[in-house]
Amino acid sequence: MLALMIRQYELIDKVLKYNPKADVALLNRAYVFSMKAHGNQKRASGQPYLAHPLEVAAILADMKLDEASIATGLLHDTLEDTLASYEELENLFGEDIASLTEGVTKLSRIEFNDKATAQAENFRKLLLAMSQDIRVLLIKLADRLHNMRTLEYVSKVEKRKRIAKETMDIFVPLADRIGLYGLKSELEDLSFQSIDLLEYEKIEARMAEWRAQDNLVNRVMDSLKEELAKAEIEASVTGREKTIYSVHRKMQRKNLTFDQLTDIVAYRIIVKNKRDCYAVLGLMHDVFRAIPGRFKDYISAPKPNGYQSLHTSVIGPFGNRMEVQIRTEEMHAIAESGVAAHWLYKENRVETQESESHEGSQYKWLRQLMEHLQGLDDPQEFYENAKLELFSENVFVFTPQGDLLALPQGATPLDFAYHIHSDIGNRCQAVRVNGRVLPLRSRLENGDTIEIITSKGQKPNPGWKEFVVTAKAKTAINRFIRSQEREAQLRLGREILEKTSRRDGYPIATDKELSKVVEPLKQDDIEGLFVALAQGRAFPRQIFDILYPEQEKTQVEQEEDKLNNLHSGTKNTDTAIGIEGVVQGMAIHMAKCCNPLPGEPIVGIITTGKGISIHQRDCRNLDALSDQPDRFLSVRWNDESQTEEGAAVYTARLRMNLHHQPGTLSNVTTAVFNADANITDLHVENRSTDMYTLRCDVDVKNREHLEHVIVVLQNLSVVNSVDRVSG
Ligand code: MN
Repeated sequence: MLALMIRQYELIDKVLKYNPKADVALLNRAYVFSMKAHGNQKRASGQPYLAHPLEVAAILADMKLDEASIATGLLHDTLEDTLASYEELENLFGEDIASLTEGVTKLSRIEFNDKATAQAENFRKLLLAMSQDIRVLLIKLADRLHNMRTLEYVSKVEKRKRIAKETMDIFVPLADRIGLYGLKSELEDLSFQSIDLLEYEKIEARMAEWRAQDNLVNRVMDSLKEELAKAEIEASVTGREKTIYSVHRKMQRKNLTFDQLTDIVAYRIIVKNKRDCYAVLGLMHDVFRAIPGRFKDYISAPKPNGYQSLHTSVIGPFGNRMEVQIRTEEMHAIAESGVAAHWLYKENRVETQESESHEGSQYKWLRQLMEHLQGLDDPQEFYENAKLELFSENVFVFTPQGDLLALPQGATPLDFAYHIHSDIGNRCQAVRVNGRVLPLRSRLENGDTIEIITSKGQKPNPGWKEFVVTAKAKTAINRFIRSQEREAQLRLGREILEKTSRRDGYPIATDKELSKVVEPLKQDDIEGLFVALAQGRAFPRQIFDILYPEQEKTQVEQEEDKLNNLHSGTKNTDTAIGIEGVVQGMAIHMAKCCNPLPGEPIVGIITTGKGISIHQRDCRNLDALSDQPDRFLSVRWNDESQTEEGAAVYTARLRMNLHHQPGTLSNVTTAVFNADANITDLHVENRSTDMYTLRCDVDVKNREHLEHVIVVLQNLSVVNSVDRVSG
């Protein structure tokens, strides 16, 4: 049910309360004119149309605006929707009201979805209309607020969503920019309700539940009042809840659940003067424990829109973290209604020295912009100039159809693509900005027209995450990459199992057979098993052991021989490799990068589908794995491996710097042979007229043996230097 519409006399009462000298006759004439002009027109709710201008005027009266604004509120739709003319309005109400009404009408005619309108011209109209007289924007915002309050009566869902989105994209940033925080929050909640009703209701229910819990807010407020009274500071205390949309945003932005939020309520202490603000701050930090890094002094350094307040966070009287905002009444009025309060301030109050200087900084940006724009007739010139700083936190861009979208400053064409739809983002192949092909990572500017070129074969690139700025784009890219990785691992796991089965003469296991393996190998399901195979956390051998236990003995041996030969590339077998700390049946091979020798500190690395590779503990290649500690196995050489009699041989790689002279190579090979070692590979890496570098793989028994070989080589006159190559 719609609330009963406000009556004209109630509106007049409201105005007289803050402006006793208001021209009541003027307001009554405007009311009568509007009533006659709108005649039998009806709102979507079925109410007489007149209810709308009356409510808009009431919202403006709540902002405590001047009588011309209130009258314009009553008249704002007469030029657009009735036969009334500008001349009529001018004759009856004067130039001020007539031109305000015209301004609002022009602003309303800007069709953000108008396909035919040129974008630069659109943007120009928007800025011009609101910058000529800030009251035009205030009236337009009041108009939009009432339309949003009655949005539920618009029957078509798509239309409701479109209006809500437009409100979120265009009017919320505008309200924010001029400091109309109350109105902005209401617009946000109303839009959010239409855009995502389910989420809205979920949060609404959680907040109702939270509120009912333990009366915490009132207990905290009582305790604050008590402390203020003890300190003899005159102050009023309120506890303001976060809006539903800002709770939603916070949960999204910080990735928190509702229960993790600590600042659902901000406590406000409003005092008489600036000095008391700091006194209260001192008191808060005295009585409660301050949370470091959360104190902000917006009194000595106001926000660009003029907002002033002290913010601090403390551990409250009941162990609750809480934010406290401390400000004067005047600061509070400006914080609540920004420009409107300022406007009233200028009109209806005695201007003191302080207020002059205050005004000096407060709406500087708007005054500067207006001064700048006045007298600029060339649309192009205007447009360039208007790109100034009006929307410092947003960048406004257009679709090829002329739809206007607001994105955060720094957004890229890719953010734009994801803003439209995650499929468009995922398939984004190229982008045209103002007709020119630009890199996906370029920064968008106000007024850019963006055309996304998609391709079916295109997929998100992990590098995209580096430059997109919107959460929507980041989330979509992450989601895609995660699903791709999993698919790749499922494929790889299946491949490893099939290849190994074929090679070792086992049948390819069916999913039904594999389901018997899932539990013994501690996996959740068959997919988990494949991922484990791909990541080297499970091995085909383990599956064969379970599925075909009767073939165990000989098969295990063959398997291991094969694996070792296949992967180590040396003739080592693990029966000869004496390593402790490895589960029986796992394939082992020596890493070729560092060729560890018995006696050296080693570590085992679980490798994808290949078993365990043994590295020297300080092998450089291990750095790359430092973020995967679960692939590291703690292993050591067993005693047999350390002795000369050990059957195994290990390959070590040497790099020698040799003098280039006849017989050098035979000197080297003979020396190695005499040291009871074998050269298995030789490679000249670098040759100059007098020197050359030789890379040489040598089979040795263990570390001591290798050291012996190196000493022998170093003693040759043809050898300049010998180094072990590892890692
Ligand atoms: Mn209207």
